[in-house]
Amino acid sequence: MLRSTLLAAARSGAVRAAVEAGPFDPLVDRFVAGTTVDAAIAAARTITADRYVTIDHLGEDTTDRARADANVAAYRMLLQRLGAEGLADRVEVSVKLSAFGQRLPRDGEKIALDSARHVCEAAAAVGTTVTVDMEDHTTTDATLTTVGDLRLDFPWVGAVLQSQLRRTEADCRDLAGAGSRVRLCKGAYDEPESVAYRSAADVDLSYVRCLKILMAGEGLPMVATHDPRLVAIARHLAQRYERSVDDYELQMLYGVRPRAQTDLAARGLRVRVYLPYGTEWFGYFMRRLAERPANVAFFARSMLTR
Ligand code: FAD
Repeated sequence: MLRSTLLAAARSGAVRAAVEAGPFDPLVDRFVAGTTVDAAIAAARTITADRYVTIDHLGEDTTDRARADANVAAYRMLLQRLGAEGLADRVEVSVKLSAFGQRLPRDGEKIALDSARHVCEAAAAVGTTVTVDMEDHTTTDATLTTVGDLRLDFPWVGAVLQSQLRRTEADCRDLAGAGSRVRLCKGAYDEPESVAYRSAADVDLSYVRCLKILMAGEGLPMVATHDPRLVAIARHLAQRYERSVDDYELQMLYGVRPRAQTDLAARGLRVRVYLPYGTEWFGYFMRRLAERPANVAFFARSMLTR
């Protein structure tokens, strides 16, 4: 119930505008590296001492073309900086197609594809990669189609699949081929029972089934979870399928279980941190609250005492 309420608020334009206009809260600071590209680069530089990074320029559900173009420009600038600062070998970017206009009523999917293509060109120019985040289930088909189109020219483009969706085992089979980078996560959106598992146990069981398919396949599984049991299962499956530490990645979010991240990296595992920055942090932040309701009371108190 609380999760659904928080996730509904995450998509409310009015709430978002009011909250983002205020100061950057210390709790937001835990999950978001800052509002500027300089802040993101500084955080990435620190993390890359022992881990890898994927940077997300925050933005989603873009409703006008100018905003979509501005998001593309922000990624191009970010990628140029990563190249200039010598970070492109350990830092890639993650993009949301809705930030590039996927939901625009006229030609949204084409605009998002063209935009993502420009970002991929900028990534190729500095020698890094792009992963396309997955949003709610109404966009899954369109997003996977766009990833397929991008891969014709940029075969290293990563896809994201969500174990909470009933369709995902089949999608894993489709995407487990040679060279295919696939990030498997549980899924951060409130989905209906018709398309999604609703209990945590079912989502976890689905995660394990999907992981088996990806680990047995020929691509690069990117295991995105903070769940210690699933991390242990991933490591066990990697051994079973004779994958070296370079043949899969563990991925976690900036600010979530940082000690586990550094411990795993110290054991020689390849750990990548998803690092968001930017002024449009509200939707991302609300999804993090929804994952851990214990954070909600703390955040509400700090809002009231502003
Ligand atoms: P959970 O069962 O939610 O959490 C396991 C444990 O991790 C918890 O007990 C807690 O200790 C800790 N934890 C988890 N979340 C938090 C938190 N917010 N604050 C504090 N502690 C926490 N979802 C999408 O729908 N699309 C995407 O493209 C996407 N990309 C992602 C990329 C990465 C690298 C990661 C790590 C996640 C991504 N997600 C994405 C989010 C994902 O779907 C889950 O919502 C999120 O990772 C929480 O699930 P979990 O696997 O960590 O398991």
